[in-house]
Amino acid sequence: MLNFELYNPVNLVFGRGQIAKLSSLIPKNAKVLLAYGGGSIFNNGVHAQVTEALTGYDITEFGGIEPNPRYETLMKAVDVIREKKLDFILAVGGGSVIDGVKFISAAVKFEGDPIDILQKRIRIENNTMPFGTVLTLPATGSEMNSGSVVTINKTKEKLSFGGPAVFPQFSICDPATVASLPKKQVQNGVVDAFTHVMEQYLTYPHDALLQDRIAEGILQTLIEIGPAVAENPADYKLAANFMWCCTMALNGLIQKGVPTDWATHMIGHELTALYEIDHARTLAIIGPNLYRVLFETKKEKLAQYGRRVWNVMETDTDKAALEAIEKTVQFFHIMGMDTKISNYTADYKNTADFIVKRFEERGWKALGERQNITLDKVKTIVEMSY
Ligand code: NAP
Ligand code: FE
Repeated sequence: MLNFELYNPVNLVFGRGQIAKLSSLIPKNAKVLLAYGGGSIFNNGVHAQVTEALTGYDITEFGGIEPNPRYETLMKAVDVIREKKLDFILAVGGGSVIDGVKFISAAVKFEGDPIDILQKRIRIENNTMPFGTVLTLPATGSEMNSGSVVTINKTKEKLSFGGPAVFPQFSICDPATVASLPKKQVQNGVVDAFTHVMEQYLTYPHDALLQDRIAEGILQTLIEIGPAVAENPADYKLAANFMWCCTMALNGLIQKGVPTDWATHMIGHELTALYEIDHARTLAIIGPNLYRVLFETKKEKLAQYGRRVWNVMETDTDKAALEAIEKTVQFFHIMGMDTKISNYTADYKNTADFIVKRFEERGWKALGERQNITLDKVKTIVEMSY
């Protein structure tokens, strides 16, 4: 097992009715920015629950944080905080609102041009504005991690940043909020969480036995409940298990002591930046082709995954690994994913060259747990995805 430090200060408050606890989680004299997205919280009653729980607080609302949150929008929130001298941020929404608030929290205290946080990928170690979250869309794990992804509209770049000072102070996860999610968003959540586990699990055999078993348990649970929760998000038992799987997939626990890949996400982010394809759908496009191109170095772990997660009976490693990839693609299809770029845009011909050029410009020469996903392999993976 690799050496590790596990630090996670998030107070995770899980369950039905927990939004009512907000007033015990935010200081009474706080001047709060209530940040949200396009308005789903008004339709499903979450806004009413939040404002009722915060009766008596000094609240300024800031809506309009987009899916794949924009730097330009977030900087407007920074202006509001400065102008009104606010001192606490509450994110109410999915991964986009939470990621956006992480950026706002860092940018408002940043000495220098906040765009550098993204373009120079500055690790945020200290000096942020405290924030909490009310999660309404299980998917990203952002409610219990310290990472964030923000898109710069002007340059069409989707860039990640993070650091120990952008953990939420608390996150309220009420599975009842899942009931109002469109089927497409539930499907996205299942596939995003599934791929988060794969990025931290599907590398090469190692000696961190418990991490593998936890990862496999999350994958099996997502396979067990994914199709059903997409059909019936109001089923509390399904919603609660879905929500907890998504948090557990990316709260740092399963990545400790093991190698991690993350190349599917890195390539996927480019597809969202270029074509606005939903994050999870980019992962369903890229993941299986990445496993095919990296077959020689990933096949032992693929075979283990096939046998333990999909009950593949095949004893030959290569055949079991291939079957595991096919099972994964079938699962993504069951979860409503189209797995080709051409399913989303007709204008895809130069995608691979464009992405490789972008990676070159950023000085990214290779990705993955062995740093063996060189740019020629990135090109092949993307071309196979047309
Ligand atoms: P999202 O972009 O936050 O939300 C997608 C849509 O779902 C929005 O239109 C939103 O509407 C709606 N929605 C949210 N909750 C709802 C509810 N309870 N009922 C009805 N509609 C609801 O989706 P996401 O998948 O959670 O976040 C995706 C972003 O997170 C991407 O930018 C991705 O790159 C990033 N990400 C971050 C991490 C991380 O670790 N930080 C990991 C993976 C991905 P409203 O806007 O109207 O609320
Ligand atoms: Fe993701």
